[in-house]
Parts: sequence; C-alpha cells; structure tokens
Amino acid sequence: MSEMRHKILALPGDGIGQEVMDATLEVLDFLSSKKSLDIDLTIMPVGGTSYDQHGVPLTNDALNAAKQSDAILFGAVGAPQYDNLAWDKRPEHALLALRKELNLFANLRPAFLFNELADASSLKADIIKDLDILIVRELTGGLYFGEPRGIYADVSPKRALNTMVYDEVEIDRIARVAFEAAARRKNKVCSVDKANVLEVSKFWREQVSALHTKKFSDIGLSHMLADNAAMQLVIDPNQFDVILASNLFGDILSDIAATLTGSIGMLPSASLNEKNVGMYEPCHGSAPDIAGESIANPIAMILSLSMAMRYSLNMVDLADQLDGAVKTFIANGGRTKDIAAGGAFLKTHEVAQEIIQILS
Ligand code: NAD
Repeated sequence: MSEMRHKILALPGDGIGQEVMDATLEVLDFLSSKKSLDIDLTIMPVGGTSYDQHGVPLTNDALNAAKQSDAILFGAVGAPQYDNLAWDKRPEHALLALRKELNLFANLRPAFLFNELADASSLKADIIKDLDILIVRELTGGLYFGEPRGIYADVSPKRALNTMVYDEVEIDRIARVAFEAAARRKNKVCSVDKANVLEVSKFWREQVSALHTKKFSDIGLSHMLADNAAMQLVIDPNQFDVILASNLFGDILSDIAATLTGSIGMLPSASLNEKNVGMYEPCHGSAPDIAGESIANPIAMILSLSMAMRYSLNMVDLADQLDGAVKTFIANGGRTKDIAAGGAFLKTHEVAQEIIQILS
C-alpha cells in the first residue's frame, strides 16, 4: 500500500450526481478507515449547484482545487432550470472547462456486462456474454477542435467547415495509453480509423504502427475501418479488448459499446492527462426524472472511484477488491430500480451499505 497522501476532489454536481456521490463517498470513507489510506478529500459544488451559490458553474477555487488533486470524482451536472442560461453559465460548461484546463486528452470508457444482467442487453445473451472491452478515445483534438472552423453564411452557396487534424505528439500519447491499458488486460489493441479515405487516418495508422514496433511489439495490434468497427461491435463485440480511436470515431463507438450492456447506471469513465491525473465520472447524466427519489443506481460512480484507484492513485489491489465487491453484489441479486426488471430493489444508499458489507 502506498504511504503517499492522495488528494481527491469530489464534485457531486446536480440531480442524482449528488445521490450517487454520497453513496460513493460512504464506500471511500469505509476503505480509507479500514485500509488506513491517507486520503485528503475536498468536496465542492459544480454545475447548477455552483451557479446557484456563486453565479458560475465552475468557480476559480474549484478549478484550482482540481489542478492540485490527484483524482477528481465528478457526479453529473445539468437540470432543466439551467437550460436557457448563456453557454458559459450552463452546468455542462464546467465539464468542458475542466477537461480543457486539466488537458484531459485520454478518455477511457469500459463497457462490460454482468452476466446476470444479460437480459437488459439488446443483443442475444450468447453474443454479449462475458463482454469486457475498453474504448480509449482521444478527447482534446481531432475534428471537434480543429481550426479553421465555422459557418460561412455570406458566401453563395452558404457553407460550413470543420477541420480534422492530428499531429504526431497527439497520436503517440493516446496510442501509448491504449497499449499500456492493454498490457493490464488481454494484450490486444484494435486501432480504428478511415485510412481508406482520410489522410489524417493514414497518418494515424502509420504513427500507431510505428509506436507499436518501437515500444509495444508484445501487444497485439490490428487496424479496422470505423464503419466496420461499428458493425463488429454489434455482431461480435467479444473479439475486442482495447479499441483505440480518435475523438470523432471514439465518441460514436463508445456510445454503441455502452448501449450494448443495456445499463447506463453501471458504466464508469475516466479522462486522464499526461501525469495520470484524472477525472472520473459515470457515463450517465443528472437524471432529473428520478432526482430526489434516492433510487439512482450508484454503481457507475462507485466503479469510477475504482478506476481512480487503478489509474491515478496507484491502488490497483484496492480497485480489484472494489470491482470484485460490485460483482458479488450483483451476483447475490443486489438490484436498483433501473436493473430490477420490475422486481424488488434497493435504494441508492443501501447499495453502498451492501457493498461495504461485502468488503468487510
Ligand atoms: P441521463 O443520463 O441523465 O438520463 C437518461 C435516463 O437514464 C433517464 O431516464 C434516467 O432516469 C436514467 N438514468 C441515468 N442514470 C441513472 C442511474 N444512475 N440510475 C438509474 N437511472 C439512471 O441523460 P438525460 O436525461 O439526457 O440528461 C439529463 C441531464 O443530464 C441534462 O441536463 C444533460 O445535459 C445532463 N447530462 C450530464 C452529463 C454529465 O454530467 N456528464 C452527461 C449526460 C447528460
């Protein structure tokens, strides 16, 4: 166990973000007292909650605290009452500002199935069984950020433009994250591109291959065109281990992969920078439709804590224990309303208590 003091910033946010964060911090509290972890935890408002208190969705104090943390746990932001605010006041702005300011270029989205929940998937049980893949998506470059960009309304015909651009540094650093993740998993990377039509993709493929030859030749590397990858994810998702993709393709493929498991309340995500500082958050939003009812599924947030331990806090053993406890909870029949298929279910806080019980 590392003796270092770990700085964690919790930003619960809005709606069920607060409920799933409360449950997750109960688990963290248990782990830090039971395993005597030296955790320095700060909790601050973000999103609509911060706007209500301070007039902005992300205060300078919160941003500075994030910059000084090893890991940030982020609940979710957003609620209908903020939808008409100016963009820089909207809750979602906080998320993008944090990503940009912390240079979180690597988005890790696991998609895995608890076999007990196979019925929730839109795929047949024998195709989806044992699913466990990781999408590594480039998050701060590519088509979403390339310049020039804009809508040109004063020319005829009117037109609009975006630019897809990657340099070698951007490709190398995201490919490295994918190879290193694969080394801790099943040793396979499938890099996705459109090298048949895009120069950026051709360059991407060459760079990934060169890095592979130079540093990661013990990891299996394949390349796949993005349209085929979308198809293969639905036909035979278990052929994949780690999928490496640019911002655009990763956005689409990670949503397909997440949907395969049929349970948005279960999937965590991580966004990392070059120092392995990361922001960890569930894939779901603030769910205004169920906020305040204490029925939200906290597992995505709890597994986000586990990812923080694995990727930023150097506590891999503890992350394994926490993942195992969540698996046992599901195998024992633990259910929240969203995955109960109309049967009996636990409240958010009760899930944390049960997981703590399993860990004890
Ligand atoms: P959502 O993910 O909040 O909810 C979609 C559906 O899934 C809802 O029916 C909800 O009840 C259910 N759901 C989501 N998480 C759940 C959980 N943990 N347990 C049980 N059920 C769960 O998406 P939405 O409704 O499109 O968006 C609601 C708000 O969240 C919007 O303001 C949106 O901008 C925001 N949002 C924020 C983030 C984020 O903070 N990262 C991500 C997506 C959406």
